Amino acid sequence: MSTGTSTSVSLDVHDVHLAFGPNRVLRGVDLAVPRGATACVIGPSGSGKSTLLRTINRLIEPDRGDVLLDGHSVLRDDPDALRQRVGMVFQQFNLFPHMTVLRNVTLALRRLRKLGEDEAVAIARAQLELVGLAAKADARPAQLSGGQQQRVAIARALALRPEVMLFDEATSALDPELVKGVLGVMADLSSAGMTMVVVTHEMGFARQVADTVAFMDRGVVLEAGPPEAIFEQATHPRLRRFLAQVL
Ligand code: ADP
Ligand code: MG
Repeated sequence: MSTGTSTSVSLDVHDVHLAFGPNRVLRGVDLAVPRGATACVIGPSGSGKSTLLRTINRLIEPDRGDVLLDGHSVLRDDPDALRQRVGMVFQQFNLFPHMTVLRNVTLALRRLRKLGEDEAVAIARAQLELVGLAAKADARPAQLSGGQQQRVAIARALALRPEVMLFDEATSALDPELVKGVLGVMADLSSAGMTMVVVTHEMGFARQVADTVAFMDRGVVLEAGPPEAIFEQATHPRLRRFLAQVL
């Protein structure tokens, strides 16, 4: 699959802290994702995985620490500009139900990138083609399966030509038989050289696709390394306990 991007960039999260009132949710997170690499983030519920992704694309501002793309801090950039560079896909697809699939994909191109209708439509059709949904351009989201809707959400993010893609449990809301198609699109994107951070419970995907697996627990990355090291030679007792529950 073509990523539709001209470039992907390295991503570095450095010593990021964030508290919601007294709840210290991120307590010094470090994560390094080289250009074109895929990092899978695993860990128990409530460990701060979603919050970490949200600080990377600045849906939330960290209290301390830095987020760097290709070595440059993004924390002083305009958040809207950053969100075009960093695409995000959520567990809930968040498509607009009253718009066609095509319109869902062209909307941000028109509003954020200020493209004209013809150009936006051409890019959107090309992205829908890449996720295997060219034939559904005129359908409404409700006429699609959950897996197809999630692929539209991915196409919508990719249409903006992001340099990094973030996935937050993108398959957790899907019926089991629909998971594979979405993971396939994500694996293709990873092979095509997109820099990605994937929060997932799909350990098979992490094992096969990740360059790095990072285990988050209570607001820190407790252990990170290549999948073989994490899944077969985990050292930290909390990681071993987590893996015993999910594998
Ligand atoms: P995970 O994705 O690993 O399950 P989250 O990042 O969603 O974890 O949540 C980590 C902690 O932060 C939880 O205790 C959650 O209740 C808290 N939290 C998340 N978002 C907010 C928010 N907007 N306001 C207050 N607390 C939040
Ligand atoms: Mg979460």
